[in-house]
Amino acid sequence: MSKTLFEKIIAREIPAAIVYEDDSVLAIRDINPQAPTHVLIFPKKVIPRIGEATGDDGKLLGHLLLKAAEVADRLGLKRSGYRLVINNGADGGETVPHLHVHILGGRHMAWPPG
Ligand code: AMP
Repeated sequence: MSKTLFEKIIAREIPAAIVYEDDSVLAIRDINPQAPTHVLIFPKKVIPRIGEATGDDGKLLGHLLLKAAEVADRLGLKRSGYRLVINNGADGGETVPHLHVHILGGRHMAWPPG
């Protein structure tokens, strides 16, 4: 199996602006930001999308969400607020088949999303 884009970033085969890393997750600046702050946080374990996660991934997914909130806080978004987004599959707008959470902040987010 070929590596996902995010596996290549984890392996430092592709450069990225890393904002947080621990043993199980990595957070990077999105290369095409959709808000003044746009960060992606993903597990180092490849789960293609949230719809393919299993009960065994529960602890990792909890860690991913808690770290997403912690990274948002570190980036100064706690007071103003922010949005976490997971795109799942074609209609969800997923383009990278390696589960990731978008952290978007620094501007007001419209609802419903496009
Ligand atoms: P999604 O469309 O939810 O799968 O999100 C994939 C995201 O990855 C998009 O927001 C892209 O802008 C972003 N992206 C693609 N290539 C890179 C890269 N080399 N470094 C950082 N972000 C990237």
